Amino acid sequence: AWLRVKNASLENHHQKRKSDASPNSTVSKQSDGTNRDTTSTNKCIDMLRGPDGELPAKLRSVESYLIERISNEIMSHDPNVRWEDIAGLHHAKKCVTEMVIWPLLRPDIFKGCRSPGRGLLLFGPPGTGKTMIGKAIAGEAKATFFYISASSVLGKWMGEGEKLVRALFGLASCRQPAVIFVDEIDSLLSRRSDREHDVTRRIKTQFLIEMEGCDTGSEQILLIGATNRPQDLDEAARRRLTKRLYIPLPSSGNHLFGCKEARAWIVRNLLEKDGLFKLSTEDIDSICKSTEGYSGSDMKNLVKDASMGPLREAFTQGTEITNLKKEDMRDVNLQDFENALQEVRPSVFLNELGSYEDWNSKFGSFP
Ligand code: ADP
Repeated sequence: AWLRVKNASLENHHQKRKSDASPNSTVSKQSDGTNRDTTSTNKCIDMLRGPDGELPAKLRSVESYLIERISNEIMSHDPNVRWEDIAGLHHAKKCVTEMVIWPLLRPDIFKGCRSPGRGLLLFGPPGTGKTMIGKAIAGEAKATFFYISASSVLGKWMGEGEKLVRALFGLASCRQPAVIFVDEIDSLLSRRSDREHDVTRRIKTQFLIEMEGCDTGSEQILLIGATNRPQDLDEAARRRLTKRLYIPLPSSGNHLFGCKEARAWIVRNLLEKDGLFKLSTEDIDSICKSTEGYSGSDMKNLVKDASMGPLREAFTQGTEITNLKKEDMRDVNLQDFENALQEVRPSVFLNELGSYEDWNSKFGSFP
């Protein structure tokens, strides 16, 4: 019901606060006659006020409920991913560090001819670590991270998508340095079609305007777009996403080194985290040989399934899960992985990879 208060702009909200007879009141009357606790909205907004009690100019016309929703659903202060959590992708990490993290950490040096682009595109098959890279950038650069998927802007946020986009960039500018990560960016910035809905068109236009603003201004806002369909991006979007990095499968058939090791690393890392890693080097080698073409996300699913092996075995031997003692459980072994390989198949067709390689050679920053 509280969404119905959207006509109340921040300015009104501020005025109301000033004139409120009861300054500690946390309940507001809704247009449908119900009451809503406004404490959390007030908290989000109060954190943004300057020493003079005023909101930054960019947020004065933004409605308070939008600020609250973005703060709660889209913004994150510590996305909790570091470079060392990401397997392989050494080349991408190196490029991103130079192109993105250094400039965010040292804006004083990265100006003039060193000034960085404000748009980065990560493209490649699904489940290869694009979102992880976005989060790691925010973590390493101590930036505020905003994650939004384009399909949600055009879906659940559709009715207010245009306002959301304005509010998102407005909030990012008050939370600098900031990283705005747009997943499935192709659906937001795809080639325009005549049959496109008016609302969709307006959201896209607003998005391009905001991107342009980021690029020309002196603000420390980095836009990262991720896509598995780079060929759908329109030319204007491509131009604005000045750096375009291919994020490939952790497959040993790839031209980037360390790919097979990346699959081994994911297996080892996930099992070690739970104290379950007891595999030999030969076992790991064998798993890597059988997982050619698996994405990072497929590998994670494989490990999850394999780690169920000892439980399933105990169950088939008649042990009830409630009576199962942890110390009696056997280690996860190669056979568990071989069984899991029957269940968890690769999610990317190897013959799709050619289209990424093609696009990379035409438009990629490091073909
Ligand atoms: P994408 O954004 O490319 O679709 P994600 O970054 O969301 O993929 O990855 C999904 C999950 O797969 C991650 O949460 C992680 O567990 C695993 N994963 C994918 N790539 C890697 C990688 N390179 N290193 C470690 N884990 C990975």
